[in-house]
Amino acid sequence: MSETSASAVGSFPEPTSAEVVIIGAGPVGLFQIFELGLLGINAHIIDSLSQVGGQCTELYPEKPIYDIPALPICGAQELIDRLLEQAKPFNATFHLGQEVTEIERLPDGRILVVTSAGTRLIAGAVVIAAGVGSFQPRRLSVPGIEDFEGKSVHYRVKTAADFHDRDLVICGGGDSALDWTVALCGKARSLTLVHRRAEFRAAPATVARMRELVAEGKMRLVEANAIAIESEIRAGEPKLTGVVLQTKNGQTPLQVAADHVLAFFGLHPKLGPIAEWGLELEKKALKVDTEKFQTSVLGIFAIGDINTYPGKKKLILSGFHEAALAAFAIQHHLFPEKRQFLQYTTTSPIMQKRLGVAGANTL
Ligand SMILES: Cc1cc2nc3c(=O)[nH]c(=O)nc-3n(C[C@H](O)[C@H](O)[C@H](O)COP(=O)(O)OP(=O)(O)OC[C@H]3O[C@@H](n4cnc5c(N)ncnc54)[C@H](O)[C@@H]3O)c2cc1C
Repeated sequence: MSETSASAVGSFPEPTSAEVVIIGAGPVGLFQIFELGLLGINAHIIDSLSQVGGQCTELYPEKPIYDIPALPICGAQELIDRLLEQAKPFNATFHLGQEVTEIERLPDGRILVVTSAGTRLIAGAVVIAAGVGSFQPRRLSVPGIEDFEGKSVHYRVKTAADFHDRDLVICGGGDSALDWTVALCGKARSLTLVHRRAEFRAAPATVARMRELVAEGKMRLVEANAIAIESEIRAGEPKLTGVVLQTKNGQTPLQVAADHVLAFFGLHPKLGPIAEWGLELEKKALKVDTEKFQTSVLGIFAIGDINTYPGKKKLILSGFHEAALAAFAIQHHLFPEKRQFLQYTTTSPIMQKRLGVAGANTL
């Protein structure tokens, strides 16, 4: 993180003003919206993924969680749905599918937050709830792949129609690979699914449908690894023409014509730009105090899996506690003159008004 001059800010479009920006929409970032909202503070929340939920949604949506207070059993996606519902009255602004690449402290103490999509926000305080970092797609590991990524080699589908009437190779054996195989079969000119083993991790019904499509001669399934890409120069630009596959039985590599490759090998977390923001780190986590959960920089807080302090336990429960205390610290940071006192949601008319339940005094 660096200090910047007002003129540097002025050379870009005017940033949007925000009371608080939360970086990371995992369970802890979502609960932060709620805790701030109870204190009358509005938030913008940013996540590099296109959906909220962090690890719960991305890594284990269907697994039951057993250690959320008062919920003896709760599905991971269900927990995220409940957190969203609980935060709803506070009308946070969501910026999804964009990674926060920069934060800069301005001379007046406010913090400029910039994302990969060019969103610029100026906030009175920032809460980093970035978990284990932003999830990045595992890349296709073949030489020279970087020249084609984003053009003819893709790790997510933005517009399905881009692949209609094209020769398509899809790599992977999980839900994304199989869902897109079934969705694009018949629309692509040709479709080859490449998976390194015979077993698939995707939903059995989708795997069965894919096998039917293979049996009907509508697509090809190859048990292999992609080992190279083929290209030729057209109009001065390298153009993907095919993929070379090494099949399991070690025969001569197979060449498959392709205009586009879709590779779905899952995601892995990467601390990424957070490491460059000048905040004190310990073992890839942000050091915070246990009163305010503030980082080494005034006005920048860190909660959930991304932070560290003596006794830290990376549990959702711990993150919820941190979000509650950080909210009070943020209130004091934004409005130092305001007297702070603890209010209960059961009895506080102002909190009930903010929650939209004023007057509902019984269940
Ligand atoms: C298989 C599994 C089972 C688990 N079971 C339990 C359990 O039973 N009980 C329990 O308490 N915990 C459990 N955990 C741990 C729990 O999931 C984590 O403690 C929790 O998800 C942390 O929440 P978080 O909001 O801090 O971070 P995350 O859930 O990691 O969310 C962080 C979000 O920040 C985003 N992000 C990161 N960097 C950026 C950036 N620069 N710009 C924009 N966005 C960014 C990421 O994309 C991500 O969505 C489990 C974890 C796993 C993997």
